[in-house]
Amino acid sequence: MVRDDTVAVVGAGVIGAAVAYALTREGRAVLLLDRAEPGMTGASFGNAGHIAAELVEPLPSWGLLFGFWRELFAFGGALDIPLRRAPEFLPWARRFAAAARHRAENTRQLAPLVKPAVGHMARWLAEVGRPELLRINGHFQVWFGPRSDERAAEQGLAMERLGIPTQAAPNEILQVIARQSARSLEPRTSLRPKNARVAGLWFTSTAHVLDPLKIVQSFVGAALQRGASFERTEVRTIKPLDGRIALHTSSETLTVDAVVVCTGAWTASLLEPLGLRVPMESARGYHVEMAGQPALTDAPILYADSRILVTPMEGRLRASSFMEFAGHHAAPDPRKLARLRTRLRDLGYGCPADGPSWVGSRPVLPDYLPGIGRLEHTSIFYAVGHQHIGLTLAPVTGELISDLVASRQPRHDISAFDLRRF
Ligand SMILES: Cc1cc2nc3c(=O)[nH]c(=O)nc-3n(C[C@H](O)[C@H](O)[C@H](O)COP(=O)(O)OP(=O)(O)OC[C@H]3O[C@@H](n4cnc5c(N)ncnc54)[C@H](O)[C@@H]3O)c2cc1C
Repeated sequence: MVRDDTVAVVGAGVIGAAVAYALTREGRAVLLLDRAEPGMTGASFGNAGHIAAELVEPLPSWGLLFGFWRELFAFGGALDIPLRRAPEFLPWARRFAAAARHRAENTRQLAPLVKPAVGHMARWLAEVGRPELLRINGHFQVWFGPRSDERAAEQGLAMERLGIPTQAAPNEILQVIARQSARSLEPRTSLRPKNARVAGLWFTSTAHVLDPLKIVQSFVGAALQRGASFERTEVRTIKPLDGRIALHTSSETLTVDAVVVCTGAWTASLLEPLGLRVPMESARGYHVEMAGQPALTDAPILYADSRILVTPMEGRLRASSFMEFAGHHAAPDPRKLARLRTRLRDLGYGCPADGPSWVGSRPVLPDYLPGIGRLEHTSIFYAVGHQHIGLTLAPVTGELISDLVASRQPRHDISAFDLRRF
């Protein structure tokens, strides 16, 4: 079928939803395609809901490389790279290591997109009529044990160097956290000795959303209201054809004027046949939910020693953790869910032995910069690889793609995000 004057957006996670909305805001006809209902199958469904305005540094760093084994140990199993994947994982890991050399420059590229993310999300949610989904209270990072004050001070200084505002966490909050963990019914772990001192930082420029799925649905709903349409289908191949683009889907061949690929961890199979290298890994994370539990405070709490982020969401708490490189299609690891639940109980949460849980793939390129750009000499665009901060970057990504589609100078320099860097 030929769709005149239409931009197809492939993938209806938070990035595709934001791109679709941004394009319809400019009066374009948009056809949004996904093999599932918007937001249901990808990372956008189950993320931690944190608008991470502090995560301005891409992950690859000298500190991480030199302290790798210590980090692996400190994660207490939060980082998992199965040996069986070594042959396919090593080339990616080599690129990850090489990117550590460029961390300062890569931070300069990423930070201007990340720092204003809370205001950006607030404006978008107001525009689509769902401002109540965003809570602008910052978040807390806490440490237990004798060195906790030192670690909080170090982190505060590191943030100051990056221009990220923090304050000492108010005493009342620390007391609530300490009291809760003292109620723990689990055997004590070495991460958090009994009656350990708690220190914490308050990141004042961050925020959280009450339901990441509702963010996707709100953006898609607003795009549909502005005339976009949604079709449930799988896109198998994308080909330039006589100045237009042919999309072969599971049900038909569509011809459109332009396409934006927003397929997260699934991107390589669509873009590599077009001549781009897309070294996309999936850094899988897990969450468990605790229904009906009141939040300790109306902001996420990052338990730094155990690498768990607990976010207050509508009617439940969502606790997220782990970075697992087991491969996109690997079965979920039930031991990780059990460990997460045990740690939550150790922190004093009434976490049942079962309940809602989820595993999903953060789409990560080895330098931890996103892929945002255009395939040369075509009207094929891409917005992929948003690593741990896709929810945070969704509005700005939508606007950058609408600049590219309109052949305007993008509002930020995005040359560093061109996939030809690989
Ligand atoms: C545990 C965890 C916690 C996280 N916490 C946060 C957080 O607190 N804050 C934050 O900013 N980010 C967070 N992230 C990262 C964030 O979730 C991702 O960066 C973001 O969701 C990526 O969005 P996406 O739209 O690119 O991909 P996805 O959400 O994965 O969507 C891709 C979509 O493309 C569709 N698709 C793929 N291939 C095809 C095809 N061939 N045809 C049709 N459809 C296709 C899929 O069905 C899917 O719907 C977290 C991630 C995880 C896993």
